[in-house]
Amino acid sequence: MFDSDLEPQGPVNTRRRAFLASAAAAAGGLALWQWWSPRVTDAAAGVPSQPKEVTVVVFSDSGQRLKSVRIPKVVKTAEEWRKQLPPGVFDITRNADTEIAYSGKYWNLHDKGLYRCICCDNALFDSATKFDSGTGWPSFWQPIAPENVTETQDTSLGMVRTAVSCTECDAHLGHVFDDGPEPTHLRYCMNSASLRFVAHS
Ligand SMILES: [Zn+2]
Repeated sequence: MFDSDLEPQGPVNTRRRAFLASAAAAAGGLALWQWWSPRVTDAAAGVPSQPKEVTVVVFSDSGQRLKSVRIPKVVKTAEEWRKQLPPGVFDITRNADTEIAYSGKYWNLHDKGLYRCICCDNALFDSATKFDSGTGWPSFWQPIAPENVTETQDTSLGMVRTAVSCTECDAHLGHVFDDGPEPTHLRYCMNSASLRFVAHS
């Protein structure tokens, strides 16, 4: 599984992989195990390793759909993500943690705009699909483009749920449930911490 997670390929990568393997062993592997757990599940199910290129749809800040692009997946080490992300965001986006209900900054936001990935700026949701779910988490009935989010089975915490992540960088966003409003009846229950709101100008 390490081959699919680290770039670039080559001697440097080989050394880094060896370092990570030994670091994981030394630390008991818990943090790395959690970080990689979705991919571990994929590997166990016989799914091919993650592609290094992904297709996403690019949107302008005003919400205009621009084009579908094939781009390299954003891959960074845990240390690099920690440096980049605000406090508290790392655990949610890179370790699939969940923010406390009603604690985030977007659950009650009704402004018109676009919600991008806090990690990589990939466009994720449009405010036109946001609704009041009463859960304390920002909720949407569909992503801005199906390509831009990836859904995987999540069996953590003794439940079977569908986790939603950013296609471009694998950031954990939240979960999707089938008790949403029309027209999709889906409820994308997101963490505010995983999102960055851009108001329509
Ligand atoms: Zn992202």
